[in-house]
Amino acid sequence: PAAERNDFIRQIVRDDLASGKHAAIRTRFPPEPNGYLHIGHAKAICLDFGVAREFGGVCNLRFDDTNPAKEDPEYVAAIQDDVRWLGFDWAELRHASDYFGVFYLAAEKLVRDGHAFVCDLSAEQVREYRGTLTEPGRNSPFRGRSVEENLDLLRRMRAGEFADGARTLRAKIDMASGNINLRDPALYRIKKVAHQNTGDAWPIYPMYDFAHSLSDAIEGITHSLCTLEFEDHRPLYDWCVDKVDLAGNPDLLGPLAQAGLPNMAAKPRQIEFSRLFLNYNITSKRKLIALVSEGLVDGWDDPRMNTLQGLRRRGFTPASLRLFVERLGISKQNSVTDYGQLEAAVRDDLDAKAPRRLAVVDPIKLTITNLDDAYHETLRFSNHPKNPEMGERDVPFSNTLWIDRDDFFEVPPKGFHRLSPGAEVRLRGVGIVRCDEIVKNGERVVELRCTLDASTRPGGTGADRKVKGTIHWVCAKHAVEAEIRLYDRLFAVADPDDDSDGKTYKDHINPDSRRIVTGYVEPAAAQAQPEDRMQFERTGYFVADRRDHTGARPVFNRIVSLRDTWAS
Ligand code: ATP
Ligand code: MG
Ligand code: MG
Repeated sequence: PAAERNDFIRQIVRDDLASGKHAAIRTRFPPEPNGYLHIGHAKAICLDFGVAREFGGVCNLRFDDTNPAKEDPEYVAAIQDDVRWLGFDWAELRHASDYFGVFYLAAEKLVRDGHAFVCDLSAEQVREYRGTLTEPGRNSPFRGRSVEENLDLLRRMRAGEFADGARTLRAKIDMASGNINLRDPALYRIKKVAHQNTGDAWPIYPMYDFAHSLSDAIEGITHSLCTLEFEDHRPLYDWCVDKVDLAGNPDLLGPLAQAGLPNMAAKPRQIEFSRLFLNYNITSKRKLIALVSEGLVDGWDDPRMNTLQGLRRRGFTPASLRLFVERLGISKQNSVTDYGQLEAAVRDDLDAKAPRRLAVVDPIKLTITNLDDAYHETLRFSNHPKNPEMGERDVPFSNTLWIDRDDFFEVPPKGFHRLSPGAEVRLRGVGIVRCDEIVKNGERVVELRCTLDASTRPGGTGADRKVKGTIHWVCAKHAVEAEIRLYDRLFAVADPDDDSDGKTYKDHINPDSRRIVTGYVEPAAAQAQPEDRMQFERTGYFVADRRDHTGARPVFNRIVSLRDTWAS
């Protein structure tokens, strides 16, 4: 609820509504379709869509598709899926490319008003002229061109007369500005590349700051939320909005009206917040793309990837990601978040929701010698220890069980309270067994032969008898063989981006980040539908794999262990 969230952005929005500055608010989430969304985007999505929802406003999904060389319809489709999966929906689906006609008219207006000029300097010369943080830049020799000449050249740029990179349209602001973004930044460049939406219609493409600020103004965005690295761009954002003044120049919106889009033009306000940095992770799209294209992971939805597709396949719930973001809060302070917090969020979400199941990941046989071979019983187990509403299920039981190899030691370390020769342990929901004999195949223990103390069965006279350990098991005669994919963190070091020692993130992939084993699950677990999540008691939270799981051939991914094994 909005009342509980009180970060500085929500405070601004609340004030703007209270003062009547805005009758309703409008936000947008503006991904560039040049890669899949990742955990960092989840923070922006929850903020952009969340603020709109909490304050009764709306949020647009806008593809910032102004760089045709890197963009792909595959990403456009996946991004829509991901936003919906996270639990949000947009008022309008827009593309910056919907506004190319408006941007161009705005550029002509800036030229006519003497606020922009066509520059013939090469990219390298522009860099030289720009100056540095400590040195002012120098004016381009083309800065004094007349309005007529600029207009003629801009129209010929638009008509495709010049080669890529031959000219740019630049804002005429201040080459001595302390803010380098204001040193006559480029507004348009020549790039003869086909665009996924507009085809070959445009040989020129708008630059980010120009397109982004005007897109916000066109859509009537009231609060344009973006990450801190754009703080220094805000003066340019405001410059574009003010100098073009779409609200005061409705004729510039002609191309929108032709496309049947309403005139919503208004003056937006950009507000910056800190990015998410997560240790043990990388979030650069370029690096994520390299992991996939170089085969270091199994595609975009590899369950170790921090893409929303990867997190989904790993078993993270949308609610757990929203909870994680909620706990991060919103501020202007950049900091690194511990990956353990993401794992804690999914544990906290699933603890209440996930039914409990029995599964054995590394099986060793346990035979109860005082039950005969034909013995069979159906036990009733509750699905959740704290929530009777989640019901009960049948769990088959016989004289032959699988238990986890971890729960047995031939020579137990001090303080070990589970099975070892001569020791007793409680089998969950059954009673106390004693290990009388072990069977070996060479060095390897292959079977534990035990007796069950019948008086300790539920309801029996010795049911309350204390032993220190309780272990889980599955009935070997009914359990279903399952492929169990034990995932862990993709990177073995906290800062995989740190290449100061000559190693790169590719050298830091955790070799134990995926271990595939064959285990056994109780029948109720095998019946899961793809994407059903459950707790394998004492082992961790697991999900039936979204793509590969079937009832006949179960496949489970470990979402997270029950406890943080990485905490120092
Ligand atoms: P890259 O530079 O790797 O391409 P980007 O930040 O440019 O990433 P976009 O697709 O443009 O990616 O991002 C869309 C929105 O998501 C932007 O508003 C951006 O600020 C936000 N965003 C991206 N990464 C993060 C992050 N790590 N934390 C918070 N917000 C983020
Ligand atoms: Mg980018
Ligand atoms: Mg971007």
